[in-house]
Amino acid sequence: MKKYKGYLIDLDGTTYFGKKRIPTAEKFINELIEAKQPLQFVTNNATKTVDQVVENLNKNYDIKATSDMVYTSTLALIDYLIQNHKGQTVYCVGEEALKGQLKEAGITLVNNANAEVVVQALNRQVDYDDLTIAIQAILKGANFIVTNTDRVIPTEDGFKPSSGALTAFIQYATRVEPVVMGKPFAPIIEGAVKKINLPKESLLLIGDNYDTDIQSGIKAGIDTLLVLTGVTKSQDVSNLPVAPTYVVTNLAEWEI
Ligand SMILES: [Mg+2]
Repeated sequence: MKKYKGYLIDLDGTTYFGKKRIPTAEKFINELIEAKQPLQFVTNNATKTVDQVVENLNKNYDIKATSDMVYTSTLALIDYLIQNHKGQTVYCVGEEALKGQLKEAGITLVNNANAEVVVQALNRQVDYDDLTIAIQAILKGANFIVTNTDRVIPTEDGFKPSSGALTAFIQYATRVEPVVMGKPFAPIIEGAVKKINLPKESLLLIGDNYDTDIQSGIKAGIDTLLVLTGVTKSQDVSNLPVAPTYVVTNLAEWEI
């Protein structure tokens, strides 16, 4: 096993599973934090602010995370907007956590179809009028950017539609394909690498979902560790098109 200088770690399915705790993950992550190993939690979830992610990790999972350790698809979106659409007006289909963070970052939100950019994330309060504005703006030529294209969220009450289901609605109506920030696409990983500030060769990306986490690592040229505590199951491993660098049943099997 190679020694790595920094870790990019997924949350749901890797650090915890919904509301269920994964003690082997908690122990591993707290050991990394105590050893002062650089790490970033990298999550597609755009419904929580960085502070809410940290509070959830601290209170519900006893993980001693701090806000500098979290990189969400919202942060990737903000970095992307500042780099590529500086000063442009934005219409946001998203929840308050997302809108608040965009405003704090100095992005001008408007509530009409003259917006120059449409951003979309999971919005559990969305209605037909919100989607209409988004679609009209895109048909007038606004850029279409989404935080992530996850299809469903596994919950105690079964699967619920995730951000990608709303994306499909807008995409179908407009025939416009969005630029995607989250895994398995590049912006979130490139942003997290920049934030952890270490060469890619010295990083290990840990995740439970082959199609998002592991694919994003493979595409970025970062070594990957697939942990079988979430989405991808042991019976799937032999059929994967490109193997992860490592596969473990749980994180007790990994030595830092
Ligand atoms: Mg996951």
